[in-house]
Amino acid sequence: MAAMMQPQIILLKEGTDTSQGKAQVVSNINACMAVADVVRTTLGPRGMDKLIHDDKGNTTISNDGATIMKLLDIIHPAAKILVDIAKSQDAEVGDGTTTVVLLAGEFLKEAKPFIEDGVHPQNLIRSYRTASNLAINKIREIAVSIEGKSLEEKKKLLEKCAATTLSSKLIGGEKEFFAKMVVDAVLAIRSDDRLNLIGIKKVPGGTMRDSFLVNGVAFKKTFSYAGFEQQPKKFHNPKILLLNIELELKSEKENAEVRLSDPAQYQSIVDAEWNIIYDKLDKCVQSGAEIILSRLAIGDLATQYFADRGMFCAGRVTEEDLQRVAAATGGTVQTSVNNIIDEVLGSCEFFEENQVGNERFNIFSGCPKALTATIVLRGGADQFIEEAERSLHDAIMIVRRALKNSTVVPGGGAIDMEISRYLRQHSRTIAGKAQLFINSYAKALEIIPRQLCDNAGFDATDVLNKLRQKHASGGGSSYGVDINTGGIADSFANFVWEPSLVKINAINAATEAACLILSVDETVKNPKSESVQGEAAASAMAGRGRGRGGRGMRRR
Ligand code: ADP
Ligand code: MG
Repeated sequence: MAAMMQPQIILLKEGTDTSQGKAQVVSNINACMAVADVVRTTLGPRGMDKLIHDDKGNTTISNDGATIMKLLDIIHPAAKILVDIAKSQDAEVGDGTTTVVLLAGEFLKEAKPFIEDGVHPQNLIRSYRTASNLAINKIREIAVSIEGKSLEEKKKLLEKCAATTLSSKLIGGEKEFFAKMVVDAVLAIRSDDRLNLIGIKKVPGGTMRDSFLVNGVAFKKTFSYAGFEQQPKKFHNPKILLLNIELELKSEKENAEVRLSDPAQYQSIVDAEWNIIYDKLDKCVQSGAEIILSRLAIGDLATQYFADRGMFCAGRVTEEDLQRVAAATGGTVQTSVNNIIDEVLGSCEFFEENQVGNERFNIFSGCPKALTATIVLRGGADQFIEEAERSLHDAIMIVRRALKNSTVVPGGGAIDMEISRYLRQHSRTIAGKAQLFINSYAKALEIIPRQLCDNAGFDATDVLNKLRQKHASGGGSSYGVDINTGGIADSFANFVWEPSLVKINAINAATEAACLILSVDETVKNPKSESVQGEAAASAMAGRGRGRGGRGMRRR
């Protein structure tokens, strides 16, 4: 009787749903494998692209792992971790985003049978971490430095790196052309870390080959007022004034109320406004600048005023562009026109407004600080140019990384095969179950060459056998998939290179993600947050996550 009187212990709120145990781990693994399957086919130079369109009717064509993952709108809580690692890889190194997702998926796939057999996830996690450390040390050992070479040689090597990244993209056909452009752009900003100093401007129309690089800043002509036509459009060695103020005559506000006793006073109010603007304009002219740029509007009065004095102006320049002009020309953005000293004015060798396709561009070249570069991208469809921009971004990141870290490893699955071989060999020295786990990790690494083959339509089993043989024989450590013939080839000799940082980061991030997912054995869903997220998300969750776990238990 006493026992029946005891109150029930309530741990979680009514309606809270929890799934736990082995089933939960396996369910999470399944979800992650499904995500990896989505990006699988995009890997490598023969990878396919994905066309994603959302409910707003926007379509995106992409080959970039991070972009695809972002657009997929994944709601499974565990699978979201994969989205995060793809994003972090993108932010950290800019390339290898597909690789990182694939690796994480494969690590989990290899872990699944062990989990199902009752192995404790912590044992697996420990071995995976060991394997990852061994792998990273091995990469550092294999990596070849490009330091100490002459600029010309370095440039060539960097172009090869950029070309490898671009070869898997939509613009792969023109990879040499773009690789050169990317390297020039990166070398132009030298060691400066701010990526936004490289601008990429997209102008639909023309062919890819019409794209060009400006050693300086270029931006689309801003909205301009009457009088603009009379302004000169070419300057040699102009001084440039950068402003963050409005040069516009303010019309009287309609709903403002001014009480006057004498009609003559009204005129003085109107005059005051004119005096203010003329004063500002005079000060701009007196500064000695020939080009005036402002973040804010430059109205017709100002435009005409400058035109009459043989000056050029552009208002509503975007913040980003203005900062880049400042960095390139050595000017400083002013918030007032009072006391403009010579030091705050920028300068460049040549300014011109030019027609590119259907657009007019303001181009500043030969800048003294020259810490900026602008790539003007041309090409057919919008989606095409956008994907081209993303691809160039990847390549720019790679070149910057290679320049900074200056070590590379052979790509095309060569490095992955080599680490795999090394780990297998190493695992033989380990006793106990850990041997099996490290072996599985080693096997998972083979997914990269395997997928490269699959995506190119080669017989993966055959190629992988050849690769294993070659790597085991010693001296074949840089052999990878030959994407042209379907056989194997020395990736190093063929200049299929990757910065070692891409691989190190990918292996590290993928291992961490896999371990994280393995270590989660319970998902608790709070009923409140569910209702906030809305019905749609909740029902989708039930369909995917919980449905697969199957054994979600209700706790009361
Ligand atoms: P990620 O988003 O991971 O960078 P990619 O689609 O760019 O994915 O593919 C990168 C993989 O393709 C790397 O493993 C790289 O070594 C390989 N790869 C790139 N170019 C070649 C090539 N010409 N031959 C063989 N493999 C290549
Ligand atoms: Mg890539």
